[in-house]
Amino acid sequence: MCREGKKQSPIAVEKKRALKKNFPAFIFKNYHDVYSTTLKNNGHSAEVRLKTDKELTVEGGGLPEVYVLDHLHFHWQSEHTVDGYRYPLELHLVHYRKSFGNLSHAVQHDKGVAVFSVLYDLSPDDDIEFTSLISLVDKLKESLNQEEKLENFYVHDYMPRDTAGFYRYSGSLTTPKCNEGIIWTIFTNTIPISESQARTFHSLKTDEQKELTKNYRPLQKINGRNVYLKVSPIHKSSGSSLAMSKYIMFVILGVVYIH
Ligand SMILES: [Zn+2]
Repeated sequence: MCREGKKQSPIAVEKKRALKKNFPAFIFKNYHDVYSTTLKNNGHSAEVRLKTDKELTVEGGGLPEVYVLDHLHFHWQSEHTVDGYRYPLELHLVHYRKSFGNLSHAVQHDKGVAVFSVLYDLSPDDDIEFTSLISLVDKLKESLNQEEKLENFYVHDYMPRDTAGFYRYSGSLTTPKCNEGIIWTIFTNTIPISESQARTFHSLKTDEQKELTKNYRPLQKINGRNVYLKVSPIHKSSGSSLAMSKYIMFVILGVVYIH
């Protein structure tokens, strides 16, 4: 499938080509609680697993059913590009469809898996909420397939505060066996990360003890697939137009004050 598939991931997302679509909001359950987790370098990524009997589920957002969070893992640099830009880091939250019971069963079915992608963009400052995970990544440099405990993990710290805006398309897993029929959600809001935090991941080692300086799959052909875009209602009213109206208010108030 990795060689022959026609609906493969990742892809180059282009905002102006995406079809606007009004998906309902996501409903997250148990995502806002604190969990004990483990972090592991599995030789091709840094993987976070939650140690809990609770199910973290998501529905809505155009998903056909309830999906359960299986694990989180990172890619450096990003696998997806947006408008030609490759981000320093991309987080994948991998979910399986609840009725399929587990991930290995779900990947064999169309729409059995939903992956949420969070893009991290460079910022001059460290992301404070990321600090404990980053220091653990640094610890994992020399150890492969060894689980390190990561306490006080909040999944929502690793997701944008506004999850209403996202791209949606049908793609594949980006590692073998590259199973297709995966529902991809790429949030339009990014999370800031510093250059040194992003670079910490580059020091992890592969199975052959080489530096894992990058672990993203090359871009795949779109082959006529539709990419949908849900624009966040918050995003619409923020940004340059809001900044400009604030500036105009400031000027008006300034003029009134001087008089
Ligand atoms: Zn991934």
